[in-house]
Amino acid sequence: MKKKRYVLCALLCILTLLLSSCTVNWFDKQYDVAWWVIAIPVTVWTLAWLIGGSCYIASKKYICPTCTRSFSPKWYRAMFSIHMNDDRLFKCPYCGKRSFCRLDRGSED
Ligand SMILES: [Zn+2]
Repeated sequence: MKKKRYVLCALLCILTLLLSSCTVNWFDKQYDVAWWVIAIPVTVWTLAWLIGGSCYIASKKYICPTCTRSFSPKWYRAMFSIHMNDDRLFKCPYCGKRSFCRLDRGSED
């Protein structure tokens, strides 16, 4: 799992290095945008997304409403899942039903 994160970070660094300045057309005006104006927000957003997904959301447990068993989702499934408040849409690894799973409050620190 950590190997995938390193590959993703390396890919992000390579894409950042491939960036060059570009020209933006905003209505009738043209602006020259430096590469770092694009690279810094994208890098910060991606790192926040990875850290938030792997450290915060994936560390929590969710309860399947069908079989009432508790499970920990993979971090990338947690990040891409549809959610309403703390409930997230997951496919249960035990019964295979896809439903909104409630956060297991007993697993919170
Ligand atoms: Zn289930």
